[in-house]
Amino acid sequence: LAKQKGKNCYHLFDIESEDAIRTRHEIIKSIASGLKKNEFELYYQPKVNMRTGAIVGAEALIRWQHPKRGLLPPADFLPFIENHQLSIEVGEWVIEESLKQYNQWKQSGIDIKISVNISALEIQQRNFPTRLAHLLSKVPETPPRALQLEVLETSKLSNIRKVSEIMEDCVKLGVSFAIDDFGTGYSSLTYLRRLPADVIKIDQSFVRDMLVNLEDKTIVTGVIALANSFNRSVIAEGVESIAHGTSLLALNCELAQGFGIARPMHANVLPNWLRQWETKEEWK
Ligand code: C2E
Ligand code: MG
Ligand code: MG
Ligand code: MG
Repeated sequence: LAKQKGKNCYHLFDIESEDAIRTRHEIIKSIASGLKKNEFELYYQPKVNMRTGAIVGAEALIRWQHPKRGLLPPADFLPFIENHQLSIEVGEWVIEESLKQYNQWKQSGIDIKISVNISALEIQQRNFPTRLAHLLSKVPETPPRALQLEVLETSKLSNIRKVSEIMEDCVKLGVSFAIDDFGTGYSSLTYLRRLPADVIKIDQSFVRDMLVNLEDKTIVTGVIALANSFNRSVIAEGVESIAHGTSLLALNCELAQGFGIARPMHANVLPNWLRQWETKEEWK
């Protein structure tokens, strides 16, 4: 009897995991249909030079305007398509959409470089440079130098030589790279040396507590020094207050992005935010 019960339990577990698979499958299907129905949106978060007040770029961050569940952050849907072909399609949509957005702003007199997040899976596709070239050719008004690619999850990159070749091919097209979330994962130093990225982004987890946690401040200081010695520029993400900004400036990190400057916003409201930013004194 006990054995049977055990068997039943095992069976029950089995059914549950089948359900979980079915649910994941349903979610992937609804993401695919959301993409077709144009339910995805890019929000943009400005990046500023704290010393001059200049806007140096804006990061495109994907959102899903879900018909029933409202505006969803990437953490609510990207994990379901991780390592799935669909993440490549979503990635292409993001690049094309941001190229179009650059051009739209440009026509209204605003020239802001756009950064797009690229997963480890995307950048490891051998045909990524070809697909990127195709996307750039679909929006010929936007020069490739207007596009920066932020490479995510660098610790997941399995073949550093292959990835650096892929990245070099993209650099030849005229785009540039940043290493995102620098300091997390394990192999950051090798990546810094080998990957053709001009910019490193200090992960927000270190920036957030740098004012109260001496170890985090030490890491931030170290990353800035490392960037300098490798001749890369450095930007701090997760700058939540003016005090963070002041501290970063004292450490010679001029570039910043974070809620303390601006939250990610809809493309339509960015021009207005820019006008307000120009009149703001406290960050200058
Ligand atoms: P990330 O690229 O490191 O982007 C920064 C994230 O931190 C964004 O969250 C942003 O809203 C948030 N953030 C910015 N400033 C602050 C701050 O001062 N404090 C705090 N607490 N958070 C701040 P979001 O938009 O939810 O995106 C999360 C992650 O999702 C991104 O991290 C990126 O890894 C991924 N992601 C976003 N858009 C895309 C995309 O189009 N493609 C891919 N593959 N991944 C994306
Ligand atoms: Mg990013
Ligand atoms: Mg980041
Ligand atoms: Mg992140």
